Amino acid sequence: MKRVFNFSAGPAMLPMAVLEQVQAELFDWNGSGMSVMEMSHRGKEFVSIAAAAEQDLRDLLNIPNNYKVLFMQGGATAQFSFIPMNLLRGKTSADFVVSGDWGKKAAKATAQLASANIAASSEADKYTYVPDRASWKLDPDAAFVHITSNETVHGVEFAQDPDVGAVPLVADMSSNILSRPVDVSRYGLIYAGAQKNIAPAGVTIVIVREDLLGQTLAKTPGLFDYQKVAENDSMINTPPCFAWYVAGLVFKHLKKLGGLDAMAAENARKSGLLYGYIDSQDFYRNPVRPQDRSRMNVPFTLAHAELDEAFLKGAKAAGLVTLKGHRSVGGMRASLYNAMPYEGVAALVDYMKEFVRTQG
Ligand SMILES: *Cc1c(COP(=O)(O)O)cnc(C)c1O
Repeated sequence: MKRVFNFSAGPAMLPMAVLEQVQAELFDWNGSGMSVMEMSHRGKEFVSIAAAAEQDLRDLLNIPNNYKVLFMQGGATAQFSFIPMNLLRGKTSADFVVSGDWGKKAAKATAQLASANIAASSEADKYTYVPDRASWKLDPDAAFVHITSNETVHGVEFAQDPDVGAVPLVADMSSNILSRPVDVSRYGLIYAGAQKNIAPAGVTIVIVREDLLGQTLAKTPGLFDYQKVAENDSMINTPPCFAWYVAGLVFKHLKKLGGLDAMAAENARKSGLLYGYIDSQDFYRNPVRPQDRSRMNVPFTLAHAELDEAFLKGAKAAGLVTLKGHRSVGGMRASLYNAMPYEGVAALVDYMKEFVRTQG
């Protein structure tokens, strides 16, 4: 068996220890004689898997008791619409701080139902920074303020949990959840699709403060109503059982590694190695303002775009794959989620140096 270092932005690498456990349990989970794929979601085995996953996530993120944790479907994209359905609460507008394409898409989805006010945006500068907090034009009557804590395409990340006062703060954490500790009490709602930093695609985590529930827009389908999802332990209908199970294994794995403080230290070390090299020479370049650079997704360009194909081909031969940048940005993008080992980043940097030496 040959494993590569996969720099995909998502679906992305999973920890080897978790894949091995999935393999070991694939035919017979815990003496049940069944795979988790084959189990009733209402049976005591899966109910215990689901409950343990929630508890481990609560432990990792230190989620206060007045927050519900939901395991939903539809990805972060479905949440772009579910959030206004649930959180408008009779109000007519929401604020968006846009630091990349995902935040812009979230604003568009809210605009179907209410007015989506762009409180700040770095679009005119090609999303190379998070707009400074002082420049945000927030409306005190907004239903919520939406941010994207890490913009996966542009490689722009909030360095801290922002303070927006009394209006509930909503964050799309799809691509940096569990990469560092978060002060959950600052947020009204946090959401994240699984396939970047948690599990296979198919399950979406929603962490929502209880007092925001129960005022869902009239005619919202029950399946999209957080209050109803919470009352039914995220099992109104069949949940994405297998993805939920793998998420639980990843949570246990992260706890064993020392939790989110340990992940934050390791992610700083990994991204620091790559940015340190990029900044030390002038063949490769990252356009993002240093304090807003993502520790998870590192876009970079080569001095000559004609060399992109050769770079990718050589990388693949060296076991470094999925480095092609997003079509809207070009160049390369290395995604360094929790499951990417330090050795993978070191191998990439070695390859980049070698490429400059031979082709630059
Ligand atoms: C990947 C991603 C999404 C979209 O996720 P889907 O599961 O495909 O809907 C949304 N927001 C961010 C920040 C992402 O990285």
